[in-house]
Amino acid sequence: MLIVGNWKMFRGPEPAALAGLDAPDLDVVVCPPFTRLRDCVDAGLTTFAQNVHWEDEGAFTGEISAPLLLELGVAGSLVGHSERRQYFGETDETVSRRTGAALDAGLRVIACVGETREQRERGETEDVLRRQLSVLEPHPELVLAYEPVWAIGTGLTATPELAQEAHAFIKSQLAAPVLYGGSVKPDNAAGLLARPDVDGALVGGASLDVESFTAICQAAARIPS
Ligand code: PEP
Repeated sequence: MLIVGNWKMFRGPEPAALAGLDAPDLDVVVCPPFTRLRDCVDAGLTTFAQNVHWEDEGAFTGEISAPLLLELGVAGSLVGHSERRQYFGETDETVSRRTGAALDAGLRVIACVGETREQRERGETEDVLRRQLSVLEPHPELVLAYEPVWAIGTGLTATPELAQEAHAFIKSQLAAPVLYGGSVKPDNAAGLLARPDVDGALVGGASLDVESFTAICQAAARIPS
């Protein structure tokens, strides 16, 4: 089971407060903003960036590369979060390039996929997921995150049944562990994580609060593997 906290562009909690959340069948990862990566690494947390470029170096202002992250002790990166797709022009093509380069360089990757509310209402969920997944290839260090866009930061959560259905579909397209993301909170985590194809959670808002994130990790640690 893998629980990942995405701090987005928030300062986030003190890393030391999150030490010791890992358990025998539970890996915990934090994705802080760039300025806090070193603090998290130094506190002994498994630390991922929120984005990574496909070139090792170059004139790409505002981007960060896999070698620069590895030098800092960062273990992996998110790629293709829906906020990057929505606001920063991330496409399936750039998701593919970022993912491939990061994996080749030795980073772990969590690649995010998911449909918008309009796409779900039009019955296009599977087509969208198929398209987003078609640019990725299986890799031992690749994890997927199913994040229905309508559930991110909205307080709307997919039901465990709906998440299970989407995860099973995703695994039929690409063999990889699949995390669920979208308003995961202490009170809904156990139900989602108990589904057979839900291999963990990508947690945004609730990861900014030590108590909530700890409660989600504890719920995950109680799920039999
Ligand atoms: C996310 O940032 O990936 C996320 C799922 O956010 P939230 O938990 O706030 O919906």
